Amino acid sequence: MEKAGYDARDHLVPYVPPEWASHLKDIPQYRVQLANHDTPIHRWYLPGVPDGYEVYIKREDMSGADLSGNKVKKLEFILADAIQKGCKSVVTCGSILSNHCRCTALAARRLGLQPHLIVRSPTSNPDEASCSGNALLYRMAGAKMYLAPLKADVFTELLPRVNQLVEKLKKDKNEDAYAIHMGGSSSVGVFGCLDSYEELMEQGVADQFTDIAISTGSSGNTAGLAFGNYLTGSKLKIHGLCVTNDLQYTVREVNRLAEELGLRDSNQSPPSGPNAEEIIDIIEGVRGLGHTISSQEELEFICQVAISTGIVLDASYTGKSAFHLVKQLQENPGRFKGRKILYIHTGGIFGLFDGRMDDVIKKTTASNIHNWMQLSDEVPFNLTPETS
Ligand SMILES: *Cc1c(COP(=O)(O)O)cnc(C)c1O
Repeated sequence: MEKAGYDARDHLVPYVPPEWASHLKDIPQYRVQLANHDTPIHRWYLPGVPDGYEVYIKREDMSGADLSGNKVKKLEFILADAIQKGCKSVVTCGSILSNHCRCTALAARRLGLQPHLIVRSPTSNPDEASCSGNALLYRMAGAKMYLAPLKADVFTELLPRVNQLVEKLKKDKNEDAYAIHMGGSSSVGVFGCLDSYEELMEQGVADQFTDIAISTGSSGNTAGLAFGNYLTGSKLKIHGLCVTNDLQYTVREVNRLAEELGLRDSNQSPPSGPNAEEIIDIIEGVRGLGHTISSQEELEFICQVAISTGIVLDASYTGKSAFHLVKQLQENPGRFKGRKILYIHTGGIFGLFDGRMDDVIKKTTASNIHNWMQLSDEVPFNLTPETS
């Protein structure tokens, strides 16, 4: 659907990095505007936090409605790069319930680009492919989907397929397509995460807090915070709660990004610049039963948090990371620098609508549900039980 007079380049806005990032390599020239910036920070009475600790929450879940969560800010740089390079479509990968795939598809459409998604799915039959949660939204946006097996490895299976599809689109349609790294965690996308750090600085976080805790997946967001903290004098301690991958994956990805930004050189011996484990407290054991599987205990915790604080966590990322943040504060307080902790809510609300919560909701709220006839002994409003 080419619109007359439409030029995607009109969306490009010149980008100037924060002073502390101005010496990094390959600084993007442009960004596009997709996210709501300056999201609020407020106190969060997270159940189970030991006395003496104060937890606050940074509402990155409010960076938008359909385009919400931490992926949007990465896409502001990635899609600007795609537009600048004259691409008409974008190709990325993820799980079938991926927030990144949802944000990529919707953001691409806003800018007039065609999204292609290679997604890990429990079925290879298109008729049985999921239509709930994030999938509902990216399917609605007309994303082209390519179903991959659940076990397909990111580096040896998914990302090579992303590049193959980019080449195929060029060959078959003579169309330039743009390959987007898993979770948008490329050296371009990470500038959105550095920008998130700058936003925290402008909100006074370095002076008011001792620690930051965040869910770590493809690692870009955690890397961005850690690099920002490192480059501005390391006042805070950054805790990355590994929700989807292990320590090894996180270290490799954070160090790769550091190299690509020119912050680290592993060709030197010993390598120069920061190592992931020096700038991030990487917390394992958060993934639980699996990225797309939740334990009863985790799901009940999510309900408890909604009841006691009105904050909605998701089952794949934030529910698990908040659960383990509390656990670490209880069992391992020594790993925190101080007692004032900022938790980054990275979004993901649509993942709740994939059916995973249904049983626990029915179980925990059954006693909340009544027939309205119980409100009064008398038959109310002239309605007989038969007609009501
Ligand atoms: C992707 C995602 C994360 C992890 O961010 P990365 O930059 O991939 O590490 C955390 N929370 C939610 C809700 C996400 O969608």
